[in-house]
Amino acid sequence: MSRHVVFLGPPASGKGTQGRRLAEEDGLAYLSTGALLRSALRDDTELGKKARPFLDRGEFVPDEIMVPMVLEWTEAQKSGWLLDGFPRTVPQAEALDEALNGELEAIILHVPDEELRRRVACRLECENCHRVAREGEGEQCPKCGGKLSARADDASANFENRLLEYRRLVIPAITYYCDRGRARIVNGTGSPDDVYQRVRG
Ligand code: AMP
Repeated sequence: MSRHVVFLGPPASGKGTQGRRLAEEDGLAYLSTGALLRSALRDDTELGKKARPFLDRGEFVPDEIMVPMVLEWTEAQKSGWLLDGFPRTVPQAEALDEALNGELEAIILHVPDEELRRRVACRLECENCHRVAREGEGEQCPKCGGKLSARADDASANFENRLLEYRRLVIPAITYYCDRGRARIVNGTGSPDDVYQRVRG
């Protein structure tokens, strides 16, 4: 049976770094909803136009936009997949369960707020492939050659709002998985390699 994994955690908890690596190693299709939205903003697509006001304020994009978009992607996958940043709300988790035929593992990355603030203050991401840079990688993505730059939504006020949204909306989604015995909480502090060993379990 195909494997389905979702990564949940606060902003800058390492969902992208860990999720990409797990997906690559285990041959799972990978989707970061945040990266997808940032590309849509950059290319000024219809989705980008709808999503921009929310991202600019550090708010979540409404479920009515997110759910059909992600379900269209999951339904198109022929084998296993990993979602980074979806679900982020209880209705999103419920919609995924309804659509899903099979098991789902939820990996929750736990990182204290002070560490998250420290991380965003110096976080760089590739504008092209959206991979988060490692320390000392300079200005160019070693994977695709794209430009490494700070995310607009990592500015302090925006980031604090995303943390509030995390508490208000994502924690109940985490509880949803905990209540059903499907959540695995992983300590997300330490080096990316150390965290990855814990993610692998
Ligand atoms: P991320 O790259 O995962 O930190 O996501 C960046 C931003 O994209 C979030 O702060 C939200 O505004 C938006 N976003 C990403 N995924 C979702 C989702 N599942 N539901 C609502 N908004 C989302």
